[in-house]
Amino acid sequence: MTATRVDSATLRRLPKAVLHDHLDGGLRPATVVELAAELGHTLPTTDPQELAAWYVEAADSGDLVRYIATFEHTLAVMQTREGLLRTAEEYVLDLAADGVVYGEVRYAPELMLDGGLTLAEVVEAVQEGLAAGMARAAAAGTPVRVGTLLCGMRMFDRTRATADLAVAFRDAGVVGFDIAGAEDGFPPADHLDAFAHLRRENVPFTIHAGEAHGLPSIHQALQVCGAQRIGHGVRITDDIVDGKLGRLAGWVRDRRVALEMCPTSNLQTGAATSIAEHPITALKDLGFRVTLNTDNRLVSGTTMTREMSLLVEEAGWTVEDLRTVTVNALKSAFLPFDEREALIEDVVLPGYAAAL
Ligand SMILES: [Zn+2]
Repeated sequence: MTATRVDSATLRRLPKAVLHDHLDGGLRPATVVELAAELGHTLPTTDPQELAAWYVEAADSGDLVRYIATFEHTLAVMQTREGLLRTAEEYVLDLAADGVVYGEVRYAPELMLDGGLTLAEVVEAVQEGLAAGMARAAAAGTPVRVGTLLCGMRMFDRTRATADLAVAFRDAGVVGFDIAGAEDGFPPADHLDAFAHLRRENVPFTIHAGEAHGLPSIHQALQVCGAQRIGHGVRITDDIVDGKLGRLAGWVRDRRVALEMCPTSNLQTGAATSIAEHPITALKDLGFRVTLNTDNRLVSGTTMTREMSLLVEEAGWTVEDLRTVTVNALKSAFLPFDEREALIEDVVLPGYAAAL
């Protein structure tokens, strides 16, 4: 097969699917500035461009804990119904502008209670904002479907309550669950109660694992907790020597466990050393079900188009490679099978065929 390289205008138009993107990591800088002014919240700067640069600089520190600390300012403006409606609607419009046709947005409702909203009111407001964004995007001729993952914070003790919330809202736009936050010192098995409940209720979930911590974290997420996908999972390479897969890496590849890889974010937190050397390329070539994701578009200063462009320019990716990770994402999305199949057949494959 002839490999096809691609220019940036074509990249933007390619249909994309993103499985790993945090709502509170993807706000528009101008919106953060505007909402913070209304609330009297002090930001590092009130200039949107400087604020965008401040995020990337803080995120470039190479430290996952400091990276996570930058969320203070986005979360500050997401404590009211108005703030949630607006940021959720803009979230969808920004994905549509990036060529995304299916996205899974994730956030932790437990971090949005400071303004007096209940957990359920937080989810209702976000779903309302997402629905408004989807309606506007469809009206503008750039339809995008967005499903929600609710995150429990792994260092706190509300994961079971969040799992209950995911069950309660499963017919109202919530498609799954995740645990997020600092990985080191907070193993997934601390939250077995939540995971066991989700499994009893047939709600799928992913777990952030193998980013700051290695193979034991990935093993526990899959084999003790029962995750269907892994957030990041870059450290699975520790179980691959000279192209030979160990038992855990073999399980991940052979059972088609999706790895939600986020190249720019992984560089910033020190989980990878360069785009050229990022494990996503080697894992793709070994036949793992890798997916390409943004993680936090504001905090990492990125978009899906940018992530694709980096892989094309620095790791030699082709349009066929981009199609592979897009189809991978839809195969492993937490949507019903018929809807995933329709997106692949009717939207993604024709979109890539037009570019090839
Ligand atoms: Zn993440």
